Amino acid sequence: MLANHKLAKSIADQGFYEFRRQLEYKTRWYGSKLVVVDRFFPSSKTCSYCGHVQDMPLNNRTYDCPDCGISIDRDLNASINLRNAVGLTVNACGRSAADSSGRSRK
Ligand SMILES: [Zn+2]
Repeated sequence: MLANHKLAKSIADQGFYEFRRQLEYKTRWYGSKLVVVDRFFPSSKTCSYCGHVQDMPLNNRTYDCPDCGISIDRDLNASINLRNAVGLTVNACGRSAADSSGRSRK
C-alpha cells in the first residue's frame, strides 16, 4: 500500500484532514481560536529578523541570513515567523485574524 505513492498521499491527506477537523472542533468546544497559516507560507525560508527569503534544504538546520547576519536554529526561526504571521492569516471560519474582534459570528 505504501509503495503506491498516490494512495499513500491520499491516506496521509485524510490523516491531516481529521487532525484539522479535531482541532477546529476542540477549539470551538473550549472557546479558543484556531489560526491557520497558508500552506505555502515560507516560515522556514524567511529570516525572522529582517524578512530576507532564501532556499533552505531540509538538511540545513541553521538559518544563516546573508542580509542581516543572524544565525538561528531553523525550527526556532520558523516558529517566530509563524507567531508573527498571526495577523496575516485567516482563521478556521474564513475571516482574517486581524479583523477579529474576539466575538464569534452567530
Ligand atoms: Zn536577516
